[in-house]
Amino acid sequence: MKNYYSILGVTPDSSDAEIKSAYRKLARKFHPDVNPYGTDQFKDITEAYEVLSDAKKRIQYDTINGFFKSSYKENKQQQHTSSQKAQSEYKKQTSSKTYTEPKMSKEDFSKKINEFFDEFSTKSKQKKAEQIPKRGSDLFEEISITLKEALAGAERIINVVHSSECPKCKGRKFINGSICSECKGSGEKSEHRKITVNIPKNVKNGTKLRIVGEGEYGKSGGKNGDLYIKIKIQPNNRISFDENNIIYNVPITPFEAVLGANITIPSFDSRLSLKIPPKTHSGQKFRLAGQGVKRNGNSGDMIIIVHIEIPCSLSDDEIRLYEKLKKISSNNNIRENLLNE
Ligand SMILES: [Zn+2]
Repeated sequence: MKNYYSILGVTPDSSDAEIKSAYRKLARKFHPDVNPYGTDQFKDITEAYEVLSDAKKRIQYDTINGFFKSSYKENKQQQHTSSQKAQSEYKKQTSSKTYTEPKMSKEDFSKKINEFFDEFSTKSKQKKAEQIPKRGSDLFEEISITLKEALAGAERIINVVHSSECPKCKGRKFINGSICSECKGSGEKSEHRKITVNIPKNVKNGTKLRIVGEGEYGKSGGKNGDLYIKIKIQPNNRISFDENNIIYNVPITPFEAVLGANITIPSFDSRLSLKIPPKTHSGQKFRLAGQGVKRNGNSGDMIIIVHIEIPCSLSDDEIRLYEKLKKISSNNNIRENLLNE
């Protein structure tokens, strides 16, 4: 005979609750899905539990195999008495019958596995999930903005996909034993929400904006998660940032460089004016104080770096004039002293 008590690691004195708890622990450990070598143990455990969890079967088993409860606490006295009564009744009924060890058929075994799964995987988890408030997870999105928007601020409407509890099955996935038709058994429902994001002025690249409560929905009264929006400033070939300074690479024509000029430069919220002195070199820097990023009470500068660029289209007349310029140009070699500079 198999000692069901030792299989479950309990004693004939153990209460139903102790037996149940021992069974759960072992079943989790030896379930064939978890432990591929656990099939035999799992079968034994399940068989032991089937007998010991059933009051009538347990008494039969105890009687036949000579298990007696050693000591009882006072509060168990009543239970003791009723067990004894049942025991004697059983003796009367089964006077001379031979007791056969309860064996499980394959069908019973797989049924037991299913029951086990139903009980532990679905019910208990669901019950826990339903009872314990769970905060929704945070959501992360990225918004790409232009430099102009980075300085001036912007408003964007974004579409965020939330998943919420299925309203039909309340996240249980099943209704009366069949898969919920609303969520197809996922227990969740996707929901698109339009959220208006206000991007503050003078935002830095990589800034994360937090929108409280717009993350995934909380469960069982738990708080919603938050929505984090990472700001990505689209790179621009001409403009970059150095802390609060704006570095602006501005083209000038060869004649503006030579003769000097008052140029206007398109800027973020206005047009800037800059006086280029005669004989300006390519790469020369001009600082416009206080025209940079205004952030935390500080104001950066705008640093304009001029670059002599040739206009894309040059007329024949212009080319002829350049040729004339070349001829009359004094023949000092601009590259002569490169290595001595
Ligand atoms: Zn559903």
